Amino acid sequence: MSKLEELNLADEAIEVPEEVPEQSGGFQPLPQPGHFTFRLPLELGDIWNSFERNNVERISAKFDRDNPLAIIDSPGGDYDGLTLGNVSITNVERARGREKVMVSEMFYLIQALYKGEELPALNSNAAYAKALVAKAGQTFKAELEWSANCSEHRDMYVEQEDGSVKQQEGTPGCGAAYYTNTSDPDNRIPVDEDRLFVERFDCALSPQGDDECQATLRAFPRITRFRTA
Ligand SMILES: [Zn+2]
Repeated sequence: MSKLEELNLADEAIEVPEEVPEQSGGFQPLPQPGHFTFRLPLELGDIWNSFERNNVERISAKFDRDNPLAIIDSPGGDYDGLTLGNVSITNVERARGREKVMVSEMFYLIQALYKGEELPALNSNAAYAKALVAKAGQTFKAELEWSANCSEHRDMYVEQEDGSVKQQEGTPGCGAAYYTNTSDPDNRIPVDEDRLFVERFDCALSPQGDDECQATLRAFPRITRFRTA
């Protein structure tokens, strides 16, 4: 390091841009749904949360901006080299198949990661976390879907005339849910003129009343149907 005067800086002009964009890097659109290959972060120590569901403790692994999933392969290569944040995978079980066996998404992810090896006994929350942490930096395949909820338990957001979105105090959502992977057109997240799903859209349903719902909804990503890469 030097003192400024020791640098003997030449008096060369630096161009000043007329307009300076925001530092945030702007808005990164959600990748469109489809089949992806993801790589887990190299460190999985910092991604855990615990919560209570049906009176038992369960855990979630959250892949966010600081610990995102790397996109290794994507439909048409459109998103290769980018990352996916804002997705969680939990070990909350739900009934699967004809026998209604209780299995979690995290179980299926770990199963895909351990293919060809002995699957660790997933008999505690800690065992789940340990099994996943041991696979840090490994790749897996999964399907990316989007969903959006017009929650009855939260005040709705409504788009204003200037395009901003404001929470409507005391006015909860209508309870409608939207998905990218549904055959029901009423519950499908809308597409734009290029047939791409849109992240922000107006709720067009109103399951409980005659008035059309005014809420503006936002789609969130989720990954499911894990396979070995
Ligand atoms: Zn609604």
